[in-house]
Amino acid sequence: MTGQRGGGYNRGVDTIQTRRWLVENLRLLWSGLNHLLWPAVCINCAESIGEADGDLCRKCWDELLESTGGDYCRRCGRDVGRYGIVDGACGQCMGREAYLDRIARAGVYSASLQTMTLGFKRGRTELDRVLGFLVRSALEGGAFAGRIELFVPVPLHWTRRLWRGYNQSLVLIRRLRVPRARVSTELVRMRRTKMQPAMGSEAKRRANVAGAFAVRKGHPFSGKAVCLVDDIKTTGATLDECARVLKEAGAARVYALVLAVAGQSVS
Ligand SMILES: [Zn+2]
Ligand SMILES: [Zn+2]
Repeated sequence: MTGQRGGGYNRGVDTIQTRRWLVENLRLLWSGLNHLLWPAVCINCAESIGEADGDLCRKCWDELLESTGGDYCRRCGRDVGRYGIVDGACGQCMGREAYLDRIARAGVYSASLQTMTLGFKRGRTELDRVLGFLVRSALEGGAFAGRIELFVPVPLHWTRRLWRGYNQSLVLIRRLRVPRARVSTELVRMRRTKMQPAMGSEAKRRANVAGAFAVRKGHPFSGKAVCLVDDIKTTGATLDECARVLKEAGAARVYALVLAVAGQSVS
């Protein structure tokens, strides 16, 4: 009986091992077939890539990393040399009042980052992994990640969200990993605004967004450290108006996290 039981046990182990071997080989065969039928391509330029490269080809990674990194002003996000920053602010931000406390950005709005940010906004949501990785790294380098209690996507007008089907900033937030922070969509856009012109007077840009945002009744912002998330910062008027509304609603601190800051390098 004992021998038989032992034999049965061994046979059982053999069967399990054979099954594992089969499953493992099937998995390999399947991934090989998959690769043959749908070879991995770069999600930015469609060049074929090796599996180790992730979502992008080497060239696109290089280009992307070129437009990220570098020193920037923590108040406005503009590119600025290390010695151009005094007390955390560039020459243009020094002594200037703003509702936004600090900003973290992944890079400047050019080359691959521009193409990918635009694509992401226009329906290419598969880019969320790469872009999510970039905002996550930017947040880690921003020195305020540990203080954030609420993430707030810069809201789209409901007609635009309906048309697009998603808010790209909310998709980015879903890629962040900050354990204690929650997401709130209680900041809303009351009216459609014109595209922010990169040039033009500051007064004009502020007028364009004045009164465009509001908070919902029963919002959670009172006394909280809030981080606004957006894909592109062009003039900063939108982010500052959102920060103004959030502070009026009682927010203690308002930070911003963006993918890219549009061409505003400071000499
Ligand atoms: Zn590529
Ligand atoms: Zn600045």
